[in-house]
Amino acid sequence: MSTVAVRYAAAALTDRGRKRPSNEDAFGYSVEDGVYVVCDGMGGAAAGEIASSIAVDEVLRLLSARDRQAPLPTVAEEVIGAANHAIFSRSQRNQNLSGMGTTLVALVVEENRVWAINVGDSRCYRLRGGRLEQLTLDHSLVEEQVRIGRMSRAEALRSPLRNMITRALGTQTHVTPDCFRFDAEPGDLFLLCSDGLTRELSDTQIQSILAVNLPLADRCTRLVEAAKKAGGHDNITAILIQAVA
Ligand code: CA
Repeated sequence: MSTVAVRYAAAALTDRGRKRPSNEDAFGYSVEDGVYVVCDGMGGAAAGEIASSIAVDEVLRLLSARDRQAPLPTVAEEVIGAANHAIFSRSQRNQNLSGMGTTLVALVVEENRVWAINVGDSRCYRLRGGRLEQLTLDHSLVEEQVRIGRMSRAEALRSPLRNMITRALGTQTHVTPDCFRFDAEPGDLFLLCSDGLTRELSDTQIQSILAVNLPLADRCTRLVEAAKKAGGHDNITAILIQAVA
């Protein structure tokens, strides 16, 4: 079977939203190295911003310099471990940063091979043939209850515990990411985003915004504006990555 050569184009946007005094989300990417990262920080004062920016910087730097012969899931685990350690040790040294942490969702692309890596409830989606599919599984209390059949999807959306995440970078000595492997086809559109987007917009709303044939930057703007219009309760971040033939 012949493989279609795939290259990638990307655009990103982050916004404070309408309610929060600061933006604790962070993102970074390198099209050249095929690495894209979104993090959503948490913690008092400036701690959340520090946690998310350390995670983005470390993960982007380490994944860009990765050994391409090594299996990506193993590399991802090492890289996430290093970023986790950087945040955790910083919080141990400074009382004001105690307990800070961050979610992470990353996409690594090598030609038509794609890996989605996540810790926490920031998500990766793929739009293919006009249909949106979530590629990552949230590490959240309600999502885990849904998965084992103890809670319905509708109950999860209304639950007062819906903000509780079960994995984060920086809050403990050790963390394990999930790593999902996919094959990209020309036309595939990947979205990395923080929960400030997915709490305001349903998958159907996200799908209809992404399916409009506009430049990627304009589609990022439309996502963010729609989330703000829906309430903008939290910081909003989106990276769009498109596979082009
Ligand atoms: Ca958030």
